[in-house]
Amino acid sequence: MPAGKPTVADYHVHTPYCGHAQGKIVEYVDAAIAAGIPEIGFSDHLGRYYLTKSQKRRYWDWGMNERNLGRYLSELSDVSETYDGRIGLRAGLEVDFIEGAEDLLTPIMELYPVDYLLASIHCIPSLGWKHIAHYTKRDSWPVYEEYFRLARAAIESGLFDSLAHMDFIWRYVKWPAGKGEEVFKLIDRTVEGAARADVAVEINSNGYLWSQLYKVDEGDPFDALVRSVVEHGAHITIGSDAHKPEFVGKAFDSVVPALKDRGVAKYSVFAERKRREKAIP
Ligand SMILES: [Zn+2]
Ligand SMILES: [Zn+2]
Repeated sequence: MPAGKPTVADYHVHTPYCGHAQGKIVEYVDAAIAAGIPEIGFSDHLGRYYLTKSQKRRYWDWGMNERNLGRYLSELSDVSETYDGRIGLRAGLEVDFIEGAEDLLTPIMELYPVDYLLASIHCIPSLGWKHIAHYTKRDSWPVYEEYFRLARAAIESGLFDSLAHMDFIWRYVKWPAGKGEEVFKLIDRTVEGAARADVAVEINSNGYLWSQLYKVDEGDPFDALVRSVVEHGAHITIGSDAHKPEFVGKAFDSVVPALKDRGVAKYSVFAERKRREKAIP
C-alpha cells in the first residue's frame, strides 16, 4: 500500500526473538511507515513457557524463551523512543494457549507487562505435541471441534485481549466435508463468546487471502467470521502475521475495504492492556 493512503494498525508482527522470523525490528518499523501504517503492534511468540527443559530444547522454534522477554521488551521500548512521533509502537505477545497451564502464564505477565496479549491455538495437546498442520492422519472434524473448544476456553480465561487467527484451523486442517454448517456454527459461537467476554477477534491477512484462493462449497469462512463479528458487535484487531519486514500490512489494501464493505466500522488498539477503538478509514 503506498504511503499516504489511510490504513489501519497492524497488531500481529513477529521479530527474530521467536527463532523463525527474519529481519531486524527497525526494518519492520520502517516497512510499516512506508506502508502508511499508523501503529505497529509487535506480538512475538511466547510458545514454550509450559514446556519442560528438555522439551524446550526440542521445540526451540516454538517461540522465545521467557528468559528473553526482558530483552525483547527493552529493545521495543528503545525503538519506540527512536521512532516517537513517526509511528505508534506497542509491545505485545502472541501466547500459545495451553489449557491447564494458565497458572504458569500469570506470573510471567506480572513480571513483564505488555500492551496486549493475543491468544493462539497452534497445537492441540490432547491430539499430540505438534503443529496443527501435522494432524493429517486424523478425521478433521474432531480436530475442528477441539480447536474451537480451546479457542473458547482461551477467550473465557480472562488472560487475553484478542484471539489470533481463528482461520488457522481451516488454513491448516482439511475442511471437514459435509460439516460446513457446523463449522460456521462453531465460528459464530466463538465470536459470540468473545463479544460476551469483551475479548477481540483478530482479522488476519492470511485468513482473508486463503478465502480468495480456496473455495469451500458450503460458503466462505472469512465471510462467516466477519458476519458474526458484525452480528454480535465483537471487537476486532487486524494483523498481517508478518515474519518478514516486507509482509507488514500484507494485503491491508484488500482486507480493509473487505471489512468496511461487510459493515465493520471500528477496530481496536491497546496500550497497557486498555482498549481504544479507532474508525476504519
Ligand atoms: Zn500464530
Ligand atoms: Zn503469529
